[in-house]
Amino acid sequence: SSPSYRWQRVLLKVSGEALAGDQTENIDPKITMAIAKEVASVIRHGIEVAIVVGGGNIFRGASWAGCSGLDRSSADYIGMLATVMNAIFLQATMESIGIPTRVQTAFRMSEVAEPYIRRRAIRHLEKGRVVIFAAGTGNPFFTTDTAAALRGAEINAEVLLKATNVDGVYDEDPKTHPNARLLHTLSYQDVTSKDLSVMDMTAITLCQENDIPVVVFNLNKPGNITKAIFGEKVGTFIGR
Ligand code: UDP
Repeated sequence: SSPSYRWQRVLLKVSGEALAGDQTENIDPKITMAIAKEVASVIRHGIEVAIVVGGGNIFRGASWAGCSGLDRSSADYIGMLATVMNAIFLQATMESIGIPTRVQTAFRMSEVAEPYIRRRAIRHLEKGRVVIFAAGTGNPFFTTDTAAALRGAEINAEVLLKATNVDGVYDEDPKTHPNARLLHTLSYQDVTSKDLSVMDMTAITLCQENDIPVVVFNLNKPGNITKAIFGEKVGTFIGR
C-alpha cells in the first residue's frame, strides 16, 4: 500500500486530454471548474500549488510532424502554443472563483502572461497564488510531462501529481485487458525497466534523479485532486 504524505508544495500536471473530458470541444469547462474548486479547497490549507498544463487536446507536435510534412520543431512550437491556450482558460476559470493565479510562459508572450522567472514563481506560491506554467519547457522535442518534472525540480516541489483519465498505472493496458491490475506502488526502476507507459523516459528519469515522487491518478473522480494533494492514498505512487 502507498504511504501517506503531507505535501507543502506540489506540482500538478494536467494533460490536455484530461481537460477535454468526453466533450467534442477541446476543453470541457466543467472539468476546468472542477479542478479550480479542488485547488481552491487545498490552498485554503496553505498548500502551495503549481500547475503544468499539456496541450494534446489541441495539438500534438509529433503526430502532426509525421503526417503533414511539417518539420518537428515548427509542429512542437504549435503544440507549446496550445498549452498556453489551456493555461489561460484554466487561469480565467480559477480567477472566476477568486483564486489568485499567474501564468508563466517558457517563452515570452509578455502581453498575455508573465515570462517564466523561477524566483518570481516561488514568490507567487509563497503568497498563496497558484502558478500555471505554460509552453512546456520552451523547447521542441520535449513533452509537458518533462516540463512538469523540470519545473517541479526547479521550484522544489515535493511531489509531481499526474492527473490522467485512468485510475493509475496498470500491469497491462486496461482498455484491451479487462483483468489488468492497478499497481498501487512502483519504483522508478519498475517504470523504466518494465516500460510501463506512465510518462516518457526523460520525465521519469528527471524525477528519479531529483528524488521527486510521482502520483498518477484519475482526474475525473471528484475529490481525487484533493486527495492527491493532501497525500491520501490515490492511484499509483512511484518513488524510490
Ligand atoms: N511541446 C514541446 N516542448 C515541451 C512541451 C510540449 O514541444 O517542452 C509540444 C509538443 O509538440 C507536444 C505539445 O506541445 O506534443 C503538447 O504537449 P503534450 O503532448 O506534452 O501535452 P499532453 O499530452 O500533456 O496533453
